[in-house]
Amino acid sequence: MIGTELLDRVADVGAAGWAVLVAAPLVGSFIGVVVRRLPEGRPIICARSRCEYCGAALRMGDLVPLFSWLAARGRCRYCGHPLGWFYPGIELSAFAIALIALAADDGKRVWLDCFFGWWLLALGWIDIRRWLLPDALTLPLIVAGLAAAAAFDPERLTDRALGAALGYLSLRTVALAYRVLRGREGLGHGDAKLLAASGAWVGSMALPQVVLGAAVSALLAAACLRLAGVRLGARSALPFGPFLALATWLIWLLGPLFA
Ligand SMILES: [Zn+2]
Repeated sequence: MIGTELLDRVADVGAAGWAVLVAAPLVGSFIGVVVRRLPEGRPIICARSRCEYCGAALRMGDLVPLFSWLAARGRCRYCGHPLGWFYPGIELSAFAIALIALAADDGKRVWLDCFFGWWLLALGWIDIRRWLLPDALTLPLIVAGLAAAAAFDPERLTDRALGAALGYLSLRTVALAYRVLRGREGLGHGDAKLLAASGAWVGSMALPQVVLGAAVSALLAAACLRLAGVRLGARSALPFGPFLALATWLIWLLGPLFA
């Protein structure tokens, strides 16, 4: 059973594993701040958190991930306005990423898996909310991928640098072709930079699988939305970033499906 296996893995993860699990909701909370503030150019650190409805300054006790939200039953403690699922959703997602990383790997590699997964979570979530993949997140992720290769996997550094270059160029070529053929933008510039980051982490050989996995999961999501009664016309589309992010992280964790 995958469930019991996961529990066994989690039971003997040791101190590093527990540290990841404890850190995850806190990191998720921080990712929530990044997702809301970064696209608007608002400061991310050194700015007090306030209720977005009544402006009340939040104290430490209001900012404990998940627990504060549960204790106040999903409402602001000061004005009673419902807070929605955004913060608990992103905190639980960060926790799920840590659990999956612990099930797939151990030791130092779990922290690297989580770092990468949490970063991609921020990018994907911003793309869903704002249809945007900020350079401030995609470009450092390219550098981080190459730095991780240099530190832990030096013999693959060349392949991962090649992956970054090919990732960028391939999506730019597709985007230009689309613009010439259809007369409008299909893929954003941000998608090309995200695929460059993807190549910097998984290497050039895995890139076709990342694109294929992202395209298949995007089509599945579109089909599910259609079944749920949401109309997607020829001119509307889904952001591609979340699917690229998901496919990249799974291939990073599990390795390419066919080598
Ligand atoms: Zn309030």
